[in-house]
Amino acid sequence: MDNSICQSHRLPLNLRLSPNKPLRHMPRQKWRLPLPFDKSSGTEGRKGIRIIYSYIYIMNSYAIAIHGGAGTILKSTMTPEKELAYKTALQNAIAAGESILQKGGRSIDAVEAAIRSLEDCPLFNAGKGAVFTHDGKHEMDASLMNGKDLTAGAVAAVQNIKNPISLARAVMDKSEHVFMSGAGAQEFAKKINAEFMPDDYFFVQQRYDQLQEALKTDSVVMDHTVSKDNKEKKFGTVGAVALDLHGNIAAGTSTGGMTNKKHGRVGDTPIIGSGTYANNKTCAVSCTGHGEFFIRSVVAYDISCLMEYKGLSLKKACDIVVMDKLVKIGGEGGLIALDAKGNIELPFNSDGMYRASKRSDQDLFIGIYKD
Ligand code: ASP
Repeated sequence: MDNSICQSHRLPLNLRLSPNKPLRHMPRQKWRLPLPFDKSSGTEGRKGIRIIYSYIYIMNSYAIAIHGGAGTILKSTMTPEKELAYKTALQNAIAAGESILQKGGRSIDAVEAAIRSLEDCPLFNAGKGAVFTHDGKHEMDASLMNGKDLTAGAVAAVQNIKNPISLARAVMDKSEHVFMSGAGAQEFAKKINAEFMPDDYFFVQQRYDQLQEALKTDSVVMDHTVSKDNKEKKFGTVGAVALDLHGNIAAGTSTGGMTNKKHGRVGDTPIIGSGTYANNKTCAVSCTGHGEFFIRSVVAYDISCLMEYKGLSLKKACDIVVMDKLVKIGGEGGLIALDAKGNIELPFNSDGMYRASKRSDQDLFIGIYKD
């Protein structure tokens, strides 16, 4: 291709195509171009640029991973119908995020869309399926973060909000704050016209039965974990991490917390650095598990730090934090993580974790149990 086409449109020098310097070897940040391409122009020069843009689309890749909670998820206690329902819900959430990434949309939008899809599904402990507090209410936490500029938004202990992840997004986009909680967050939600739902929207019989069970032993219970008397107990929190075609990563997490939790209890999910973290330099992480342990371990930021300061790979950093550090203090759970190269890790130290991932160059993966 003639370099003059690039020159006439002031493309950076390193975007000129040359057999000695394929695009694939160029630093990712140099590829950040306005997408999608404006098709309105018909000049020869612009056609040339269009070819380059298409080439960049092909060379760049996107990736998305989601989770629907970890815990004692055993094949022996699963029915084929239930398994299919979970897999379908995970697939739908991946599709919601992927449709944005495919079109050159932003990773933060893909994360929000995937989480909204999971929040609307009663199978997971977030949004509609949020667990009951000790007082028989639903108090939800959510957060999300942009790896490009470290902007973030979070809400804690919000009630009757249909999609807490979108409220966290509004805190990031429409307020001067990062983290809002309780009554103040509710007021903010009204101000920005967030979607509210009545109490009965959040009533799910299985969640109510879980609360009655937990009340008997006065225990604070994870959503997906099996208790001693073989009742299901799981961390049904949901989360998503994504890499977009621009090379930016993002993470988000949403939860109802833990069954029978005290009014005002906040877990790791809305805490930036514990349940959620994203930084283009290192990784995007979304956690699920026993929140108190994840807060004390600053899990998501610890993984980022191991990569940034120790130069570890995403896999090594995840292994150390999830399979060693958390295990040593009794922190059950898992996480999803990806880096700006599109590497994906889905580690958990519990029996199972609802999880799925998709990269532009790979088939959809869905997992529930340990392999
Ligand atoms: N991490 C959440 C919390 O402690 C629970 C979960 O992951 O299900 O609130």
